[in-house]
Amino acid sequence: MAREQNGTERPRWIAHFDMDCFFAAVEQRDNEAYRGRPVIVGGLSARGVVSTASYEARRFGVHSAMPMETARRRCPNGIFLPPDFARYSAASRQIFALMERFSPRIEPLSIDEGFLDLTGMEGLMESLPAYGRRIKDAVHDATGLVASVGIAPNKFLAKLASDLEKPDGLTILRPGDIPRVVWPLPVSRLWGVGQKTGDRLRALRFCTIGDVAAADPAALAARLGKRLASHLYELANGRDDRPVEPVAEAKSIGREITFERDVKSREEAEAQLLYLAGQVGWRLRRAGKRARTIQLKIRLQDFSTYTRRKTLPEDTCYDEEIYETARELFRAFPLPPGAGIRLLGISGSGFDGPGTLSLFRDVPKKDRLYAAIDGLKKRFGEDVVRRGGAGPASPP
Ligand SMILES: [Mg+2]
Repeated sequence: MAREQNGTERPRWIAHFDMDCFFAAVEQRDNEAYRGRPVIVGGLSARGVVSTASYEARRFGVHSAMPMETARRRCPNGIFLPPDFARYSAASRQIFALMERFSPRIEPLSIDEGFLDLTGMEGLMESLPAYGRRIKDAVHDATGLVASVGIAPNKFLAKLASDLEKPDGLTILRPGDIPRVVWPLPVSRLWGVGQKTGDRLRALRFCTIGDVAAADPAALAARLGKRLASHLYELANGRDDRPVEPVAEAKSIGREITFERDVKSREEAEAQLLYLAGQVGWRLRRAGKRARTIQLKIRLQDFSTYTRRKTLPEDTCYDEEIYETARELFRAFPLPPGAGIRLLGISGSGFDGPGTLSLFRDVPKKDRLYAAIDGLKKRFGEDVVRRGGAGPASPP
């Protein structure tokens, strides 16, 4: 519910759009010979992973995040392609630009999906299904690609809805539909329930979303912890207050890298952190933001993932302060002997400090230096200016 100034609440309507098999669909659109055939896009190296599989490939049991070796075994006659991000980004930009016709508030979730806040626009549309249809038609007419769209009173339900009738789906979920449509779905469809939480819930005999919705909240909290329990209980009952947040209002700005080969030494890892800090600093400055909290993310070769964060005495958008904080967090992290690092990430958050009001206050010299660096980066690309020692990073 959105709160009006007089304190009353009006229903929200949020659309979620998600392109069907985006990368594979772009390939099939651009190459006639690929149409109707199993197309698998992803890393083709020994360690590669499937990014997207066309529906033809999914019939062979190929799906995203699967090791490429497995995909090749399951679908030996498939068309295997490395991702061509330039073409996918061009299509993505075109799609997001179109979405601006349909809502003033758009939150991108990834290259091919996002939320549109439709609250208060009911007067502009003949009906929600007709509006959803117009969104889909606009995407198809302009790009030749197919989007699935869900429209519902909140983000969780809208995202769920866009997936219900994929491919080429259009689903409107109204509050009254929740018991019939949402409750029979498995708990894994709740936002934030991965393998581990899913196993835990099933062990407690919560198998469907309806099971969670009907639980006694106190008993659920005793078993799952207060925070997770209330998060899941609210979602299961179709409640989710999170607003649609346009990108300029993003809560964090960050960058991460998955390495082609696991990073084995601390030295090499710190060189990567220096590189990442430069990227994050630039992105912060470009967005006109200063971060109060710096977060480090580490994923080891066994996919275990850790985050460490530090809140600074003063917010920052400077590469070296971001780097020093990330390095300090990294040095305090007990790396198991012989462990390989698969991914490193740095992000900054906490933008609402007083510093955001005056971006470049009381450090004019430093700001001139950064203005010069950023000018170079803008002219020659993000990677041209690296600070000493920042090692080459593999592409994200
Ligand atoms: Mg998609």
